[in-house]
Amino acid sequence: MATVFEMIINGDIPSTRLYEDDQCLVILDINPISKGHALVISKKCYPTFTDIPMETLSHMMEVARKIDQKQRDALKAEGTNIMINNSPASGQEVPHLHIHVIPRFSGDGKTPAFPKEKYAEGEMAVFGDLLRL
Ligand code: AMP
Repeated sequence: MATVFEMIINGDIPSTRLYEDDQCLVILDINPISKGHALVISKKCYPTFTDIPMETLSHMMEVARKIDQKQRDALKAEGTNIMINNSPASGQEVPHLHIHVIPRFSGDGKTPAFPKEKYAEGEMAVFGDLLRL
């Protein structure tokens, strides 16, 4: 079944488009974390960050950086969150890779986004050993 983003790319459902090229489309998120929240969406449907070819992802990051600059210029955003939810366990709702670019302002009350944990004694070294490349 087509994802909602494939339907948007095909023009089957409406969206507010900010940019388009052969590899990606940028639209406004319909339920923004803050107004101006944009989504950089790959034209071809790759479900996750893990699947998408690096060249496509690199291109999308370049576009995300232009959107970040536009949000700073046009909205006077003081910062942005550049975010990818990767797989359902992370909160990814639409299985079609996209980069969130969210305008942020000092004191906007949206921080911290994630509650933080603490390592027990010695546990950080264990995770270091598990994850070292
Ligand atoms: P994620 O949880 O990372 O998969 O994010 C999916 C995002 O898509 C959410 O922030 C939704 O608000 C957004 N979204 C879902 N449907 C639409 C739509 N029709 N137009 C614009 N944004 C949408």
